Amino acid sequence: MQIEQVSDTLHKFTLALADQPDAFTVNLAACVGPDGILLVDAGWAQTAERLNEQVRALGDGYVKLILVTHPHLDHYGGCAFFGPEATLIAHQNARDELSGRYFALGPLPGQELPIITLEDELSLRFNGEDIRIIPAPGHTDSDMVVYLVDVGVACLGDLLFSDTFPGLYPARGGDVERYIESIGKLIARFPADVKLIAGHGRDYTLDELRAHYRMTVDSADRIRQALAEGKSAQDMVEEDLLKDWAEWSSPAITTEAWITSVCESLTGQTTRSIAEPLTTTIVEKGMAAALEQYQELKTNQPNAYDFGENQLNMLGYHLLWRGMHEAAIDVFELNIQAYPESANPYDSLGEAYAVMGNKALAIENYEKALAVDPNLPSAIGALRTLKA
Ligand SMILES: [Zn+2]
Repeated sequence: MQIEQVSDTLHKFTLALADQPDAFTVNLAACVGPDGILLVDAGWAQTAERLNEQVRALGDGYVKLILVTHPHLDHYGGCAFFGPEATLIAHQNARDELSGRYFALGPLPGQELPIITLEDELSLRFNGEDIRIIPAPGHTDSDMVVYLVDVGVACLGDLLFSDTFPGLYPARGGDVERYIESIGKLIARFPADVKLIAGHGRDYTLDELRAHYRMTVDSADRIRQALAEGKSAQDMVEEDLLKDWAEWSSPAITTEAWITSVCESLTGQTTRSIAEPLTTTIVEKGMAAALEQYQELKTNQPNAYDFGENQLNMLGYHLLWRGMHEAAIDVFELNIQAYPESANPYDSLGEAYAVMGNKALAIENYEKALAVDPNLPSAIGALRTLKA
């Protein structure tokens, strides 16, 4: 965990799930002072306890307010740890999503939902700071930017992945046109010397954001043009349509991911997760019917849903977090059948058994995960704990 003091009151935190130099990190900020602590995002559930220790060491008081830039697990997952004494503020769409707009399972037990929601800009005073919460959709339909006017710092959440293409989630309201509009408005609004904290990656200056904006507008135009010529996302990837922007591709957001998300956004043809219909079936008819439905849809409508590895994995975790252990095991096993060459489905099954207290099967599955990928940090860490 890295901590940087930005001003008298503002501290930037960079968190990672694994202690590795190349681990994926998320940035968040804490405003600490006489009024207590305000967080801009809360990181992952797994990092919340350490975050709390570190942030409370910076001053008196506890976490009173959490401004959630959007409800993804790397930004929102830590919120539940801070309990009801922390008031959550988020976009109304974030609350709708967390309340079950996409997944029929509804909110998690003990999950803290935002109790103040906004659709328009909101100002608040905390620790003497003039704080503006600015709705800025694009990555999802729930994004909010938090701008500390006197400090001259803005936290952009996942509107900014530094030095790579934008991350768009069309299946969760992400939209390239709205993204471009949001960034354009922010550029017009911020002073030239503003410091921009990205959701992921290094800080940006306003000039760097301008260059990023140019890249976004120009590469999206190229994709729009190719769509008009009747090309598919696959055609664009194969002909290397965005070769002039190759330097913006990264493991987090590849050129292919950017092309796919822009095409989905512009055509309105988003591929919904297979987890969505399965969840409804689990709730209404039970697990056996859901397993049948999975096979039926995969055979007869293979392109109608996103059958990617992460979809069943995510569904398994949602079941696990709700105490639906047997159903979670079924889903993780289904994912292993679908992706036997992947390490992560075994890792997830191992975690489910660990949660259920079945140490032997947990160890067995984590070892299977490591047999596929000997460097999988989560499996290495879990095995160390289980064998200790
Ligand atoms: Zn993120």
